Amino acid sequence: MPADELNRYLFDDLHVRGELVQLSTTYQNIINGHNYPEGVKKLLGELIAVTSLLTATLKIEGEIAVQLQGDGPADYFAVNANHNQEIRAIAKVNESATGSDLNDLVGKGNMIITIRPDVGEAYQGVVALEHDNLADCIAHYFEVSEQIPTKIWLFHNQETNQIAGSLIQLLPDSGDKEEQMHDFEHLCQITATIKDEEIFTLDAKTLLYRLYHQEKVRLFEPQVVTNTCGCSEEKCLTAISQLGQQEVESILAEQGSVSMTCDYCLTTYAFYHSHFVQLFNQTKH
Ligand SMILES: [Zn+2]
Repeated sequence: MPADELNRYLFDDLHVRGELVQLSTTYQNIINGHNYPEGVKKLLGELIAVTSLLTATLKIEGEIAVQLQGDGPADYFAVNANHNQEIRAIAKVNESATGSDLNDLVGKGNMIITIRPDVGEAYQGVVALEHDNLADCIAHYFEVSEQIPTKIWLFHNQETNQIAGSLIQLLPDSGDKEEQMHDFEHLCQITATIKDEEIFTLDAKTLLYRLYHQEKVRLFEPQVVTNTCGCSEEKCLTAISQLGQQEVESILAEQGSVSMTCDYCLTTYAFYHSHFVQLFNQTKH
């Protein structure tokens, strides 16, 4: 089984870049305990792969959020990631979310991509979900927002709970447009031949060699992809304290503790009287 990594590579002579992401444990940790229907599990996995690929195309350090919002039975999907490939993800699901493709699940809606650089202004791109699969929607996003020819392929293995994705993108350049598009199409044709059994079993080096051995490919250092939620006792305590002293004290009196479960990783944090003493500067005994 390949490692949970994102690999970036460059076709030195062809003005084209590529990416490959292969995820097992990271994806399994994210879906674990949520009881998502199969179709939702697959779509969330694909959105995770898309977000990882998208994050690696950015030249900034910071955070990215990719959301799907619609009027269907699974009307909200969200993936958060950063330049270190730390990812968390969630889907909101109604009982009737038994469909398998994007339209069945999310319905009519949008994909919203928010990028928050550590330094500088945040920016947001919105694309209507006009295609029946995520890969085409994201290609459309690149076409509209960045005007860069980009193609994405997504993979999902229901039995082993693995996901994967690959991306081919033209590098903006002042050279001969027609020739560049020809190279891009050529590499897309080769990339499209990746088979499920290859992407879920071969490591990146072996897979890329198998595909592109006739091209000059430069493979960069891989980035490890992890499921890092980012929730903490401190953040939960801050959120709970927003309820106000009176409300918190009444819950404590009734239940002995105030607890909060993270929507993403399902960790439950419990707080007792002692946690709030300093926070509310209590003087009562
Ligand atoms: Zn969490």
